Amino acid sequence: MTAIPNVTLNNGLTMPQLGFGVFQVPDAETTTAVANALEAGYRSIDTAAIYGNERGVGKALNDSGLPRDDLFITTKLWNDDQGKAKALAAFDASLDKLGLDYVDLYLIHWPTPARDLYVETYKVLEELLESGRTRAIGVSNFRICDLQRLQENTGVTPAVNQIELHPALQQNELRSFHAEHGIATEAWSPLAQGAVLKDEPIVQIAESHSVSPAQMVVRWHLQSGNIVIPKSVTPERIRQNLDVFGFELSDADMSAIAGLDRALRTGPNPGTLN
Ligand code: NDP
Repeated sequence: MTAIPNVTLNNGLTMPQLGFGVFQVPDAETTTAVANALEAGYRSIDTAAIYGNERGVGKALNDSGLPRDDLFITTKLWNDDQGKAKALAAFDASLDKLGLDYVDLYLIHWPTPARDLYVETYKVLEELLESGRTRAIGVSNFRICDLQRLQENTGVTPAVNQIELHPALQQNELRSFHAEHGIATEAWSPLAQGAVLKDEPIVQIAESHSVSPAQMVVRWHLQSGNIVIPKSVTPERIRQNLDVFGFELSDADMSAIAGLDRALRTGPNPGTLN
């Protein structure tokens, strides 16, 4: 298997460009799913406090016997735990459930603009970074206006903004802002939870490379420079989504996929989720 490429984050930490997501996987099934992913070769795992499966992730990590240094673990602070008083306790609870001394990346899950707490919360993440209990900090679902507000009021540029991103929601303006400011773009629901896998150009391009539509879409993310974290509980798909280094999309393929952008969200709008 070809090695998964790394992305160097703005603080020098390296992160695998292709990882494994566990949203909507029940805790009891998560250990098997993550064990299958680690067995297949994934080393980056994306969870969140709200997924309720950090214990399942932690058990798989522990059972794997893999050196901690080989793993890249991301978790996220849930909306109800924003604010100075709650954020630290929420982080402690996540570490405890994961059974880890530190995480690699800690994210604010949503800006929840109406709560108006993310600047205060991000300052707690800065303290966690300083203490070494997370190796990088970032955000998720932040809009350009939210990122600008952080820039004006805090000291550490987020290493990552994890956003909904797939061929039907390409987020070009936000991606350009990230590129200008040294923020890595991480794509959630990279397969649009399956919604783009029957799109005609995707099916055709996949056939022309003798790969599945999902493999084609993962490859599109990698060639676009995104960090990508497809989820599957199906062992064959878990392996398949990693087997994307034996073909390359042409400029014509990339242009055809550019034409599929249609502002289709599978998840909530960050401006209104509170
Ligand atoms: P994905 O876009 O990764 O799609 C997952 C769906 O696609 C599942 O139904 C899965 O089925 C199916 N699938 C996976 N691989 C294949 C394949 N090779 N062929 C056909 N179907 C396939 O959706 P997610 O929403 O899970 O997003 C990925 C990750 O992003 C999450 O797990 C989570 O870690 C993160 N995320 C973050 C959010 C945030 O707010 N920060 C929000 C949502 C997600 P099956 O499992 O049955 O095989």
